[in-house]
Amino acid sequence: MDNSFKRYFSDPTVLEILNKYKQIWSLGYAMSLIEWDMETYMPPEGIAERGTANSQLAVLQHKLLLSPDFQELVEKAKGKEGLSDQEKGVIRVLGREVERARKLPERLIAELREVTTKAHEAWVISREKKEAEPFLSYLDKIVALEREMADKLGYEEHPYDALMDYFEEGFTTKKADEMFTAILPTLKKSLEKVMNDETFPRCHYLETFRYEISKAERINRKILETVGFPKSRARLDVSAHPFTINIGLKDVRITTRYEGFDIRRTILSTVHEFGHALYELQIDEALSGTPIGTGVSMGVHESQSRFWENVLGRSRAFSAIIGELLRGEFPELKDYSDGEIYRYVNLVRPSLIRVDADELTYNFHIALRFEIEKRLIAGEVKVSDVPELWNNMMESMLGVRPRNFAEGFLQDIHWSQGSIGYFPSYSLGTVLAAQIGAKMESDMGKLGEIIERRDFGAVREWLREKIHRFGSTYAPRELLKNSLGEDVNPSYFAKYIEEKYSK
Ligand code: MG
Repeated sequence: MDNSFKRYFSDPTVLEILNKYKQIWSLGYAMSLIEWDMETYMPPEGIAERGTANSQLAVLQHKLLLSPDFQELVEKAKGKEGLSDQEKGVIRVLGREVERARKLPERLIAELREVTTKAHEAWVISREKKEAEPFLSYLDKIVALEREMADKLGYEEHPYDALMDYFEEGFTTKKADEMFTAILPTLKKSLEKVMNDETFPRCHYLETFRYEISKAERINRKILETVGFPKSRARLDVSAHPFTINIGLKDVRITTRYEGFDIRRTILSTVHEFGHALYELQIDEALSGTPIGTGVSMGVHESQSRFWENVLGRSRAFSAIIGELLRGEFPELKDYSDGEIYRYVNLVRPSLIRVDADELTYNFHIALRFEIEKRLIAGEVKVSDVPELWNNMMESMLGVRPRNFAEGFLQDIHWSQGSIGYFPSYSLGTVLAAQIGAKMESDMGKLGEIIERRDFGAVREWLREKIHRFGSTYAPRELLKNSLGEDVNPSYFAKYIEEKYSK
């Protein structure tokens, strides 16, 4: 590790930056551990004290980042020539953070923090009551603040670009529009075909099959072992909403949840989080403790989870792995063939809830949110029109209409947190996952055969070599061009969908 560190980092200014950055990194390390604990094992009443401690750590971190001497060092390093790619990466990442912090006034950050804290409570109440208020009034404030934020951050073409760039560096409204234009017609066509095909099942007995949690947990652990989850550097725990968190490059944690029925949900969500975890676990160790020692963007991160969940996890060959484990744990399922499991994990059914959506309908859920967010930020629709607009769009896109707002615009937590501009990363990740799958196949042969051989080591190594090891060294668009030979290209996803659902 020391050798590569010296190879990557030798410029005295960058070394000074990295030395100072250790404190910022350490605070982030503590905050990650705190967050993980909050979502998993903390006794519920600890929340108030934990909230105070956590926000004070965030304040400290912000102060260090914006301290004049730190900013000066970053500024000084910016103009340097002859830096290594890693050094340039450090300056790019920190430059973005410092610039963002500089452009956004304290007052705006504080207002947004205050509004989103209250908005979260209001969202919980609204969702329970299935009524637009009190949340809608907070959404109005959030949209106004986010619009102000976009103006402060600056943009070339669309104010939404400024918000999206935070989650997905270099991705624009125009590119997102192009992506959806390229994939939605294919999805629509495949969806119609499947819906008109009588032989394609609408629902499955296994959706209602009730399982013992201990057995599902054993299946998840065996699957993780099969795909190569390193026990000495990673954990699997339980939380209300599954997530992945990297404490450090040798301490990455994932969670899942056990609902007691529809066992594919816990299995596929575990495989999904494994994809996120593997990305962090395979980052070059020499980048540990630096600003580039983490995944580069939400979209690229999601491409890793979707690749494992969809491209591999929902494939025929992987269904055989799941099938074998299911039949092993549940003698009552012994008559379910691998083909039956394949149909079960690939059921297609237009539905109202994004997180339950299948491969054919998922991107419509995202396109809807993207359209609404884009128009809100551009001032083309009013927040008060959102609840009905949502329902109308859902009906025209997927032919299903929410019966209440909890099934509509209240379903996701993102807006209550002020995360506007985040959703397109989900579709970007899905599209990239297919692109990665295609590139991997052209390098290594059919993925189905690789899975049949259970050669997940080869898959991990390809991902490590092409994507993971760099961390955030390169900006997403550059990483993709370097490693895949082109930036995001939705035609791979369209082809993947056509091939999979024409059979
Ligand atoms: Mg994810």
